[in-house]
Parts: sequence; C-alpha cells; structure tokens
Amino acid sequence: MSNIYISLVSEKINSADSKKTAEKIIEFLSERKIVKKNLSDCVLGSSKGYAPAENYRNAIEKSELDFSELKINGIELITERQVFDNGGNGLEEVNCPNCGENNIENDWGNSLGNWHSGIDTDKIKCQKCGTEKSITQFEFKPTWAFGNFGITFWNWTKLNPKFVAELEKIIGTELKVVNGKI
Ligand SMILES: [Zn+2]
Repeated sequence: MSNIYISLVSEKINSADSKKTAEKIIEFLSERKIVKKNLSDCVLGSSKGYAPAENYRNAIEKSELDFSELKINGIELITERQVFDNGGNGLEEVNCPNCGENNIENDWGNSLGNWHSGIDTDKIKCQKCGTEKSITQFEFKPTWAFGNFGITFWNWTKLNPKFVAELEKIIGTELKVVNGKI
C-alpha cells in the first residue's frame, strides 16, 4: 500500500533556528491535542513521529475522515536541509524564475545535489535566457520545496487553511505545501 504525505516547508528559516522552531510547533500541536506529545513509530522510515491525538480533525478540511487507525499516520519534524520532493507523483516542469522556460531537460539534478550537500555550485543556467540562479529558485511543478525546516503529515488529508495560517504565524514565515506519495 502506498502512503501519501503533505509537507509544509519554510524555505526561509536558517539551520540555527530550525530546532527551536520545531519545539515551538510541537508544544502548540500537543497543547491543542492535534498530536500526542511523545514520539512513537507512526511515520515512514527509521525516524519517529508524533501520532494524532483526539483533536486532529481540527487540522484537516474534511473532518469526517478517520485515519486514526492507520499504522502510518503521524507527523514528522524535519530540521535539517532537505529537498522536499513529491515522491512518486512525477515531475513535469522546472521553470526558470526569469523567463519561465521549462528546464526539465537541463542538468538540475546535479545542482540540487550540490545544494543539499551545501556546495556553492548549486546554480543552473537557463536553456533559453541564460539566467544563472540557484536551482532552489526555479519553480517546480508539481511543487517541490527546499529548506531547513518542514513538517510532514503522513496520510493526513487536505489541511485546513486556517490551521496552516496559524502555523505560519508561529513559524514567522510562509509555508510551501508539497503533496507527495511514496
Ligand atoms: Zn530563463
């Protein structure tokens, strides 16, 4: 069975602030009883996450949905530099921030690897207009995001926009929404 996920990503938080921000978010979510306070095995992979608590429905749009019985249903906090891709959902466009040209045939994968490793040569030159910018400034369709901080919701359905706005207020930056499947 495949798992879906939604990642909310801040592309602006620096690595020094990401752990502090994660603590604030967990405090907020556990106080509201959206997730449990303790880590458990409820996310995909080797890391642990926070399982949904009694009020998790307040965070989603279709509150009649029930995923509390799923094995993978927790949220995961990511506090290190990461490429938040959309998993097996396919990528269609990598668009130049200057002219909009789709650079999907360009060597963007290499630049993205460099960005992830913290190497400076993360720039890519647009095939059409020649603009050279960090690959993270190109627009990926469907949405990908690049940053030091993210919250991944495993098997949660569409989040309530009011809930996302509350998180943005606490975090202090806007959040990009990445929808993925694995
Ligand atoms: Zn261009």
